[in-house]
Amino acid sequence: MATMITAECIQCGACLPECPNEAISQGSELYEIDPARCTECVGFHEKEACQAVCPVECCVPDPGRPETEDVLAARAIALHPGDAALRARIGSKSFPSRFRAK
Ligand code: SF4
Ligand code: SF4
Repeated sequence: MATMITAECIQCGACLPECPNEAISQGSELYEIDPARCTECVGFHEKEACQAVCPVECCVPDPGRPETEDVLAARAIALHPGDAALRARIGSKSFPSRFRAK
């Protein structure tokens, strides 16, 4: 599932530069995540980078958008067509993912 930002967001902006997919933007009242660009950080980090820096921990899985690791990994490749290292990581099944984090 894509990550979503809840109403607890205090608009500090800390999450925005952390997203590897440029999925976060500043909305009129809260920061927002474009679900079409969010991979839950699959392919890049073991945990969601936005949630890792959020002072109020309001970047949470969106229960309305369940997605598999395979779908998210394919999205990561689609979002970064020129990233050969990412493609290699995913192709060899040795990529960071919240689904594999201990
Ligand atoms: S979970 Fe990762 S990919 Fe999704 S919005 Fe947060 S930082 Fe970006
Ligand atoms: S880090 Fe958290 S509180 Fe700050 S803008 Fe992002 S979602 Fe909102």
